[in-house]
Amino acid sequence: MKWFLFHRNELLLMQAPDGTYSVPQGDSCPVHALKEECINTICGVATARIESQDFSPLTAVPLRQSFFLINKADYRMAGKCAELLYWNENTLFCSACGGKMEKSSEISKRCSQCGREVWPLLATAVIVRITRTSPGSPVRNDEILLVHAKTFKRDFQSHVAGFVETGESLEETVYREVMEEVGLKIKNLQYFGSQSWPYPCGLMVAFTAEYDSGEIRLQETELTKAQWYRKDQLPELPDKASIARQMIDDWADTQVLPQ
Ligand SMILES: [Zn+2]
Repeated sequence: MKWFLFHRNELLLMQAPDGTYSVPQGDSCPVHALKEECINTICGVATARIESQDFSPLTAVPLRQSFFLINKADYRMAGKCAELLYWNENTLFCSACGGKMEKSSEISKRCSQCGREVWPLLATAVIVRITRTSPGSPVRNDEILLVHAKTFKRDFQSHVAGFVETGESLEETVYREVMEEVGLKIKNLQYFGSQSWPYPCGLMVAFTAEYDSGEIRLQETELTKAQWYRKDQLPELPDKASIARQMIDDWADTQVLPQ
């Protein structure tokens, strides 16, 4: 059995003498201080959040950082466990009647008083890569729009993004966010891919689009910068764990000269 254990929002990993990391594995819990009743079993793995600072022999690593330290399947499972722990801790009582919520399946709970059922909710967000062809350029879509949002923890720049609102389709969210954040009209909207984003319970749906019309008009309550960049002048970018970065790399890799 693999043990996806957390201390606060950090994943606890086993570090080998050669410096490599792995998810601890074995029949019994690798952290002796952890009480049996705190352990959840999901999808054939065990997961728990540890209160105690004493989690030896494991090492705490920020979940996002673990992307670079463990294999992709384990990183994804760690994300799923983190989301389910977060959901579990935030649904102790029924929001309708205050009754105690009890587990009814691996991913659902039922209220012990009124019978109301709840499942984990995802916060769905869209992200859109916008490109344009600069005047006189022989290369199509040689420029990419990147923005810096106030919520970014570092100085990197990324794409326009935002949460889906009630009653909206994903496409409507994209058009609205682009207009709100940078005041531009876009065209040729296409689906790129999606990514589970367990920080703490997100689903990121990624699109690509081309600039249609308008001048950049910054939404200053949310953004500090929005600018067009060529491939050879890119600023600091999001890390490779994100679909945001995958879209930038994809754009940079597929820039080809016309025949
Ligand atoms: Zn209830």
